[in-house]
Amino acid sequence: MAPHLVQPGWRFWRQAACTLGASVQHRTWAGTPRIPRPGSLWGATTTSPRICRSGSSTSARAPEVTLTRERYPVRRLPFSVVSREDLEAFERVVPGRVITDPEVLEASNVDWLRTVRGSSAVLLRPRTSEEVAHILRYCHERNLAVNPQGGNTGMVGGSVPVFDEIILSTALMNQVISFHDLSGTLVCQAGCVLEELSRHVEERGFIMPLDLGAKGSCHIGGNVATNAGGLRFLRYGSLHGTVLGLEVVLADGTVLNCLSAPRKDNTGYDLKQLFIGSEGTLGVITAVSILCPPKPRAVNVAFLESPFYVLIETSGSRAGHDAEKLNDFLEQVLRSGLVTDGTVATDHMKVKALWALRERISEALSRDGYVYKYDLSLPTERLYDLVTDLRVRLGPQAKHVVGYGHLGDGNLHLNVTSEAFSPSVLDALEPYVYEWTAGQRGSVSAEHGLGFRKRGVISYSKPPEALRLMRQLKALLDPKGILNPYKTLPAQA
Ligand SMILES: Cc1cc2nc3c(=O)[nH]c(=O)nc-3n(C[C@H](O)[C@H](O)[C@H](O)COP(=O)(O)OP(=O)(O)OC[C@H]3O[C@@H](n4cnc5c(N)ncnc54)[C@H](O)[C@@H]3O)c2cc1C
Repeated sequence: MAPHLVQPGWRFWRQAACTLGASVQHRTWAGTPRIPRPGSLWGATTTSPRICRSGSSTSARAPEVTLTRERYPVRRLPFSVVSREDLEAFERVVPGRVITDPEVLEASNVDWLRTVRGSSAVLLRPRTSEEVAHILRYCHERNLAVNPQGGNTGMVGGSVPVFDEIILSTALMNQVISFHDLSGTLVCQAGCVLEELSRHVEERGFIMPLDLGAKGSCHIGGNVATNAGGLRFLRYGSLHGTVLGLEVVLADGTVLNCLSAPRKDNTGYDLKQLFIGSEGTLGVITAVSILCPPKPRAVNVAFLESPFYVLIETSGSRAGHDAEKLNDFLEQVLRSGLVTDGTVATDHMKVKALWALRERISEALSRDGYVYKYDLSLPTERLYDLVTDLRVRLGPQAKHVVGYGHLGDGNLHLNVTSEAFSPSVLDALEPYVYEWTAGQRGSVSAEHGLGFRKRGVISYSKPPEALRLMRQLKALLDPKGILNPYKTLPAQA
């Protein structure tokens, strides 16, 4: 049943794998100690490498990231400054988990892309929702700003403070609460690492409905807070559909328990939807109930070469039937000349290796220096036009102009790299990229959110009435604006 292209394809596959393997080193960075150290990409590991950070190395010290308040025109809002009494109060709530050591704080103040850097002097590590509620109640009363943080893999600078906001980490909120092996409903704390959840449910015959390159580090709470799309979106849909319930602590410390949700529930407004994609600005997600699909019995991954490299995964219940359908498809695209070469894998390790080629593009690009990242929804037929257009527009100013993404979702990750941050490259890119996207009625943030760096561009994709309602919702849920200030919504004049 092997498709015609398997034999020549294996040679092609090996070359592709080795090329990337040679250029991507495995490095670690300080963070959640639970995460295993990176394993070999091609070895018999069952754990994804903990994603590395651009410029970070165990042997060489990375160049310092410019403080956000110095690089960007942003003014600190009149929040209180953390005092000694505040630290003592936190110590009573989360004893031994009030971190003020500057070296430990450094990793939590800088984002994964190393483009923004805050100057928070305190990191709190609660273990329970009650502790989160205590902390927020206190911060609300004291008018202290708070930055919720999961795995700190966010792409838009939402996960780190802009000034001295208190970092509230979910790293120790990492317990699975329950798993129902008939319905596939998983209930867990927000700080569970996505890959560990995947392992947990796979052992029970299910899979997580989402998967992304950052799975070894990102938290499920962070995934929900960003409404992460990822690699299974086409098949299993958005978190707006798969998340069944949430527990959220509001800015004033109120615990909103909408966790136990049946599949069908039309009792009033579906409040959880408000928090999916709210990027830590409306509440702190402390627990998640999510529907996991059954683990497919047959998985095929085809890595094809046409004008572009295309990775296709099929998953189903009958290996023979699935292979037959895939073979028919491959024969057709080969015969028509649409595809010129490629390979197919069904073996778990080979499937993983092929996916690693796709999942680690982001990390590979970050080695160029500075990466200007855009995450756009565009009509599929125009998905690559902006890439070719920008190559001409930027000329030698850019090291690389790269387009990849999620073809089936119409989602382009446009990445432009240069040696270091350059205002002239930025001027050539913005607002051009946003205007181009708006001209196609696309979205200027398909799956990464707006965070700090994209908050000013929301109006390219949303009308003024929608923005006004968002501001009203923010004011209702967080009247003092202490939750993740300077993020998602544009600054008010
Ligand atoms: C290599 C790589 C590949 C990636 N691939 C994808 C991809 O395919 N698809 C995709 O959508 N994204 C992708 N991302 C981006 C990122 O991994 C996702 O946005 C992810 O969901 C962030 O989760 P996190 O736990 O790291 O959150 P963080 O980065 O810590 O935080 C992100 C935002 O969520 C808020 N937040 C975090 N936890 C909570 C909480 N418990 N309650 C309230 N707010 C919270 C933060 O304040 C911040 O605004 C990728 C990133 C990397 C580095």
